[in-house]
Amino acid sequence: MKRRVLLCAAALCGCSGTGDKQGGASFLSGLLPASTPAPPPAIDRPMIERLKPGPYTKAATAIGVEKDLARQRGEGLGFVSARPLEETMAGIIAKLAKGSGVTDIPGRPVLLANPQYAAYSTADGNLYVSMGWLPYLENEDELAAALAHELAHVLLMHHGADLVMNTQKRLQALHEAAVNLKTQRQAEKQAAGKTGAAQPAAPSRSDQRDLKNVKLATDLGDKLLMPAFNRNQEREADLLGIDLLVSAGYSPLGMTTLLEKLREYEKKNRQSEEEFTQQLTETAAQDTWRALKLLGRKLTDSISVAHPDTGERIEAAAAYIDKFHADAAGRAPASESWQRLKQQPAAQEVLHNYQLAFEARRQLDAPDVRPALVTARSAASGATATHAYPNWVVAKAATRLGQHNEAAAALERAVSADEPVAEVYSELIAVNEQRNRNDIALKWAEQASARFGDSVRWMPDRIRLLRKLGRVSDANTLTARCTVEAPDWRRLCQEANTPPTATAGAKPAR
Ligand SMILES: [Zn+2]
Repeated sequence: MKRRVLLCAAALCGCSGTGDKQGGASFLSGLLPASTPAPPPAIDRPMIERLKPGPYTKAATAIGVEKDLARQRGEGLGFVSARPLEETMAGIIAKLAKGSGVTDIPGRPVLLANPQYAAYSTADGNLYVSMGWLPYLENEDELAAALAHELAHVLLMHHGADLVMNTQKRLQALHEAAVNLKTQRQAEKQAAGKTGAAQPAAPSRSDQRDLKNVKLATDLGDKLLMPAFNRNQEREADLLGIDLLVSAGYSPLGMTTLLEKLREYEKKNRQSEEEFTQQLTETAAQDTWRALKLLGRKLTDSISVAHPDTGERIEAAAAYIDKFHADAAGRAPASESWQRLKQQPAAQEVLHNYQLAFEARRQLDAPDVRPALVTARSAASGATATHAYPNWVVAKAATRLGQHNEAAAALERAVSADEPVAEVYSELIAVNEQRNRNDIALKWAEQASARFGDSVRWMPDRIRLLRKLGRVSDANTLTARCTVEAPDWRRLCQEANTPPTATAGAKPAR
């Protein structure tokens, strides 16, 4: 159950796929939001006046702060614990909240181990900001602007039932696409295993079909990540965000400079998106396996949805500042406090090491993964030596190089980290299942389910493993629960609940 929205990261969306949509059209229909937005209504008084002062009213879609955190942990690539940065964000949010007149707002700030330029919020008031964003920020006002925009979505009760449903459907479809890709890769791996090849070459027989799948999945990746909030809600969040910035003592221009940075990022990534498509096409022509892996990585990173045209947002924000906050526009942004924070040893090392970890992850796409392992080892050192994400990248690189002891040690560190990464559990499940250690695999799937807020994501794994262990009635019970609690996942759960021979090897490692 997800309610996520991106302030940024239009990078992965918006580009219209020209691929073959055969077989995809019916799958997509109903998932895409209606287009043709109405022109936004004129704003004649400050947005902040729309808020009702007093205790915050919980949104109907809220599931509880802790449960929400647990579920979000299970998506994407995990959280980053970095105390000085988190404390600063919490302090900023407290100031913004005070100015809103609304009290008892739940939630907390969270840093995501994600290289994208992204932020989102949930109905429970948790505000998520990706690590990828921080190096680009020049002052505290810009960080405050990102948080103010997300807090504004929470205060304006934008996380309605429709949004939850749409986003859940999109993510479920994405997950399904990723599972299909993984299944296919596994099949190729197994085929290669039989012929004794260390790494499968592109099987020529299935090239045509694979290329079609790659195209379809690329298309899905682009199309499914459509805006969850409508254009007017985005504008409202920008404008209320500006009011909150001003009442907290920040410069309202933090919002416009932040949006300008977003626009630059989008421009840069639109290019790299084209490069990516080209790279994918070229790779697919030579090596389907690697192409699928490239795509798989993209899907895992893609927790994002696009916002309306950024140029339009910048204009609306500037006009609003002129109209209501002209006097506050002269405030100097808090640059020194931000630079001081970034230079604090604890913050600096975490920021630096995550940049290294993201770099190592990119290097994993190269044919020679030795540089990736070197970079990943540096990423998993010092302040982040026990962090899940850098160790996960070490494990992936070491596995590719056949250094299984190093991989196992890194996975062990990753799984016992304070902030877990769901992919680590997927890896542990797959590794054990491949060795037919299905009881251990099931134990990891159950632990993952418990650790990530009973997320439906683990249900198909658990059902399949119960089946393999001959626990048919337990598998049936869980499948029934899946059908009731997560109708969107019904198909995946039912597919998992078939006799083992039919699904053998259906859950591959990444
Ligand atoms: Zn937004």
